[in-house]
Amino acid sequence: MRKLLLPFLLPVLLATSFAAGARDNPLLQPSSLPLGYPHFDQIQDADFAPALQAGMALHWREVDNILRNPAAPTFENTVEALERAGRLLGRTQNMLGSLSGTDNNPARQALQQRLAPEMAAHRDRIALDPRLFARIDALLKAKPKLDAEQQRLLERMHRNLRRAGAELPLDKQQRLREINSELAQMGAEFNRKVLAGVNDAALFITDRAALTGLSDAEIDALKQADGRFQIALQNTTGQPLLHRLQHRPLREQLYKASIARGSQGDANDTTALVSRFAALRAERAALLGFATYADFELQEQTAKEVKTVNALLRQLAPAAVASARKEQVALQQLADQEQDAAGQPRFALQAWDWDFYSERLRAVQHGYDGEQLRPYLELQTVLERGVFHAATELFGLTFKRRHDLPVYHPDVQVWEVFAPNGKTQALLLLDLYARPSKRGGAWANGYVRQSRLFGEKPVVGNHLNIPKPAPGQPTLLTWSEANTLFHEFGHNLHSMLSDIRYPGLAGTPRDYVEYPSQVNEMWLSWPSVFKHYARHHQTGAPMPEALLNKVLGAGTFNQGFATTEYLGATLLDQRWHQLSLAEVPKPEMVMAFEARVLQQEGFGPDQTLVAPRYRTPYFSHMVGGYSAGYYSYLWSELLDATTVEWIEKNGGLSRQVGEQLKRHVLSIGGSKDIMAEFETMVGSKPKLEPYLKRRGLSLSN
Ligand SMILES: [Zn+2]
Repeated sequence: MRKLLLPFLLPVLLATSFAAGARDNPLLQPSSLPLGYPHFDQIQDADFAPALQAGMALHWREVDNILRNPAAPTFENTVEALERAGRLLGRTQNMLGSLSGTDNNPARQALQQRLAPEMAAHRDRIALDPRLFARIDALLKAKPKLDAEQQRLLERMHRNLRRAGAELPLDKQQRLREINSELAQMGAEFNRKVLAGVNDAALFITDRAALTGLSDAEIDALKQADGRFQIALQNTTGQPLLHRLQHRPLREQLYKASIARGSQGDANDTTALVSRFAALRAERAALLGFATYADFELQEQTAKEVKTVNALLRQLAPAAVASARKEQVALQQLADQEQDAAGQPRFALQAWDWDFYSERLRAVQHGYDGEQLRPYLELQTVLERGVFHAATELFGLTFKRRHDLPVYHPDVQVWEVFAPNGKTQALLLLDLYARPSKRGGAWANGYVRQSRLFGEKPVVGNHLNIPKPAPGQPTLLTWSEANTLFHEFGHNLHSMLSDIRYPGLAGTPRDYVEYPSQVNEMWLSWPSVFKHYARHHQTGAPMPEALLNKVLGAGTFNQGFATTEYLGATLLDQRWHQLSLAEVPKPEMVMAFEARVLQQEGFGPDQTLVAPRYRTPYFSHMVGGYSAGYYSYLWSELLDATTVEWIEKNGGLSRQVGEQLKRHVLSIGGSKDIMAEFETMVGSKPKLEPYLKRRGLSLSN
């Protein structure tokens, strides 16, 4: 394992500055653009290493000065001073992290992998400095007169330091440093392998006829310079084209290419990394006094305890699997009928047939298929007349496109967001198309976070992976892509409407983070919003009411599948993080462990055809930011479904509802007791029933 590189920082710094010539490194100064919007046009890859290293050095000097202060600790000279430290480092790290997600390249990958352990060491150097804990501890015990937000920040800092190991003896702290360094390096390596794996798994088809089921325009968009057709994969088990490829062998090939990623013993194999991750996390949790890593993680979440999450999963898993099994029977019947009608032999449905026949079944049962909706879901119209419109009706926000700010890719759009009083509220970047340099999935990020301490307003990003149409063709979304656009924008709203003083209180527990974004999905099918955006991209005609009613009437269609694939992944994430060090499987047993867990909990292939949404080797959430926290989507959905019910009873899309959401959810970050605020708003604790109803699940079967 590569060791810490601190002694070598200086030569690297000099060499890189020299190579960059007389030019100023734009990362070293705060951006001069509005709201601190990044200078994407000036930043070069070679700027990152010197800026990160300068940032770490400066951050350390700032912290060291705070700790050398002979005066007794006060909130201002310690807590607030710490909040003010590390700005250059934070800004640069955030920038590198953002660009590595949206537009990665070998230079950025190498840099992240090289610097990740150094940055972990930097964090530990501060968190494990005994002077720091002594100062914060003394301040907490002195019970200074503070306002609620300040008290909360002080307590959070104290807790964070304890959780980082500040109270451990030196030998255990040393081991923690080693673990953190190795974990950081492996994280970058895992991401690189997953991205390479998904790109390398692309299929190249020579026979156009094999693509039957797709439109001519879509097939043309897949065409490569050499005449072959490329099917790029997404980083989920399911692949969008499985819904429509009529050629069964190609479906099988695509599905198998997807689930094989990361476990084939090639350069992109991640099983050894996964096993090592689990071992290091288990060891870290043990050092900090927890039974497992999941116990450690959940302590800071609203769910609080492993047993709470396990109990919820145990309750829901059989219901979801039973529902999926019913769906499977219906799909098999349909497949049999179609084979009989065509005079072809019947076959037992396989996992790669599920999406295809569920689309057909939807057409039979509900009278429409997803393709009929797409002409009414043109991207820019859904965005401006749907997503933005709902935000205007709820929060009085208005939006104006800006063309004068630099972007890191020509597909990125920038919008200025205005508060009801006409003042600038935020800047919003929309980066909606898939490309090989972008990681999979959809996510929101923040380039600049709101804080009153620094007088800063938010600059936020919204990232989707919509396949780009051939030049000159409109971007027509699927229903699910339109839903994702509303979802990610819900995260953006959470950042853009934030109104807190201290950046250290901006964040919320992870199992709450998905809540505002999930609530925002409700406006996709809210009648007045829907009528506003769902227009035919050529004629401008509204989507026929009858078609909309069919969509809404389909309600819980295929929800057994969706819930099961999600719960399968959630279960894997929990089980991997509920292991003691001795129980962690060796690399060669990683896939066997996965199979055993799924089988034991009723998710095995002989129970349903539904594989987890992510299998272990490409489960980026599990290895990255959602470790032991993938259940968060479920947890947040309980809050979401309860809130949607409340909104429906309290006026729906209105400024009045918007104000409540803003006051109790979107503006407060983690500066208040979020669950108490939730209960004040909806008048109850989160309820299970609205969730079950929405998912078509019944606990009795
Ligand atoms: Zn989300």
